[in-house]
Amino acid sequence: MQKGKIGVTTENIFPIIKQFLYSDNEIFLREMVSNAVDATQKLKAMASLGKIKEELGDLTVKVSVDKKKKTITISDKGIGMTADEVEKYINQIAFSSAEEFLEKYKGQENTIIGHFGLGFYSAFMVSDKVEIFTKSYQKDAKGIYWSCDGSPEYQMEETDKKKDRGTDIILHIDKDNEDYLEDYKIEELLKKYCRFLPVEIGFGNKKEWKDDKQIDTGEPNIINVTQPLWTKKPADIKDEEYNVFYHDLYPLNEDPVFHIHLNVDYPFNLTGILYFPKIKSNIELQKNKIQLYSNQVFVTDSVEGIVPDFLTLLHGIIDSPDIPLNVSRSYLQSDQNVKKISSHISKKVADKLTEIFKNDRKQFEEKWNDLKLFIYYGVVTDEKFADKVKDILLFENTDGKFFTLEEYKEIIKDNQTDKNKNLVILYATDKEKQYSYIEAAKDKGYDVVIMDGQLDIHFINHFEQKESGTRFTRVDAEVADKLIEKDEEQKVSLSQDEQDDFIQVFQAVLPKDQGEFLVSFNDSGKDGLPLTITQQEFMRRMKDMSKMGGGEMNFYGTLPDTYSVVVNSESPLIGKIKKAKAEKLGEELEKLRKDIKKIEADQKKIEDKLKDKKEDEIPQADKDKKEALIKKLEEVRQKKNKKLQDFAKKTPLVNEIVDLALLTQNMLKGKSLDDFVKRSVKLIK
Ligand code: ADP
Repeated sequence: MQKGKIGVTTENIFPIIKQFLYSDNEIFLREMVSNAVDATQKLKAMASLGKIKEELGDLTVKVSVDKKKKTITISDKGIGMTADEVEKYINQIAFSSAEEFLEKYKGQENTIIGHFGLGFYSAFMVSDKVEIFTKSYQKDAKGIYWSCDGSPEYQMEETDKKKDRGTDIILHIDKDNEDYLEDYKIEELLKKYCRFLPVEIGFGNKKEWKDDKQIDTGEPNIINVTQPLWTKKPADIKDEEYNVFYHDLYPLNEDPVFHIHLNVDYPFNLTGILYFPKIKSNIELQKNKIQLYSNQVFVTDSVEGIVPDFLTLLHGIIDSPDIPLNVSRSYLQSDQNVKKISSHISKKVADKLTEIFKNDRKQFEEKWNDLKLFIYYGVVTDEKFADKVKDILLFENTDGKFFTLEEYKEIIKDNQTDKNKNLVILYATDKEKQYSYIEAAKDKGYDVVIMDGQLDIHFINHFEQKESGTRFTRVDAEVADKLIEKDEEQKVSLSQDEQDDFIQVFQAVLPKDQGEFLVSFNDSGKDGLPLTITQQEFMRRMKDMSKMGGGEMNFYGTLPDTYSVVVNSESPLIGKIKKAKAEKLGEELEKLRKDIKKIEADQKKIEDKLKDKKEDEIPQADKDKKEALIKKLEEVRQKKNKKLQDFAKKTPLVNEIVDLALLTQNMLKGKSLDDFVKRSVKLIK
């Protein structure tokens, strides 16, 4: 019997393995099974080269659990190992790299974990003893027994207990890890890590329910699919199969929008299938569904930081032998291969989108609304991607027509260029709610695009920064006349006094609890609405962004909502209110206005008189007079305003007009809505 020390000088390698990999110790099974699969693949390769003549027999890798003996056994019928090979691969090789790293990263054990492949020795994360029975495929090879109890000492000897070719690894599970002795747990791990391994993996026999009892069918329970879809040639796969595979991976999801079959062999090897899922409401929930594989061995499904952020919205599989196994996430994230792979994938995705756009624009348009969120995410976060897809970004207008930016510019440039030569793209975020604004814009000959997606506002901001000379304005940011500022001068037929009165009148009935209102005037013609409520583009956008969350934006969230109330001076209804006001308050208002003018004149007089005097040269009498005039003026103004406010509240037409304007902004609710309906009924009667 040979006894020896495993080829590593550092005595405490096992504690390090145990301690630092504890959280992820379940990968031990993946390591054991993929070694078994490798050994089997090597055997097959030898056979196909004619180096092995005899029948290979059943090559299924078998995993079994013995709860009494507290062991897990992984058996393969692969190439096995000779004594020399055990010496070389198990005793020596496994730690040569570990040793280097221990030297280099003393005191930074976390980094070590990221760097060396644990492979076979990961077994010690869960075992206090590991045994190997192995027999090489080579003629006259002897059976070899090896065991190690977790200290660097091992034993090795020839054995005649091992009769067949192949290797059995027996893990004696330690006290802390007895959970792994449950069948369901092992099956779960096998399904997670070994689901697509290229050699059949058997775990016990298939069971069936019969007469309320589970019976053994005698058939091996095969865990995996050895030739998953992504390993096949795209030309041999029907569209339907892609969908079936998708549902295998994500049983609860709807059909995907479409897929990309990746097949790269230069500058690195990469296969896989990426799916564009139907994304519902919350993009955060959608993230991290891609599964990374290395030669069909599952590596991880938390790919954040590994692939570009926007790709984490995609689903599917990426398989590359260049993705290192056995390494920590932080290592994966900084690995150069992984970086190359990820930028290559985003390029492929952009290419595929462009290809669909070019070859089948109709299909692209039909899918646009499902793709948009993903594409906008990419555009906003990945400059290279943005550059690649800029010519295939579509705008959908309210009539359901799609345009690229260039096409759209052509259509709107004559009518929608403002006086500063900016192109103004008008948009609506809700076709129903903003209906009357959309119609008003259309009446002016403008076109309106729909921007109702979760990331559209972010996209708009990004777009405006990149594409100078183009601005976005929401249809309800201004009255239609002012949406796009032209050189024409705006005339308003109401005198300043009338305007002042109207401000008082409308302010009296506007719902202060919903925000601040600024009343202004515009000539929108006889047929225009008497009153329009708008919300300024910049402020509204900032508030929308702050709702979606985002650091400094929160400041805007704390400000009150501000609205513009635009009075159409030409509306016959405004004329009617003007007349009613004149009838009710005409003389009184005239008188108050005269009083105000008189006080103002007196104020001017006294100002003139005191103009050149310093504060301490002003006689007390004049100071008192000044003071009294200010007070008086305030009183008279208040009186006038009070009259106008009372008039407003008592005049159904004023309330009606305000409510109608609120209604088009969806601001009329609850009691106010009820009052409006009741008042309207009365007015009709
Ligand atoms: P890696 O698999 O990364 O090479 P491991 O530590 O997992 O590292 O394994 C070291 C070597 O031991 C393998 O390369 C292989 O040569 C040998 N080996 C491990 N398991 C088996 C097995 N089941 N059958 C044959 N050889 C094996």
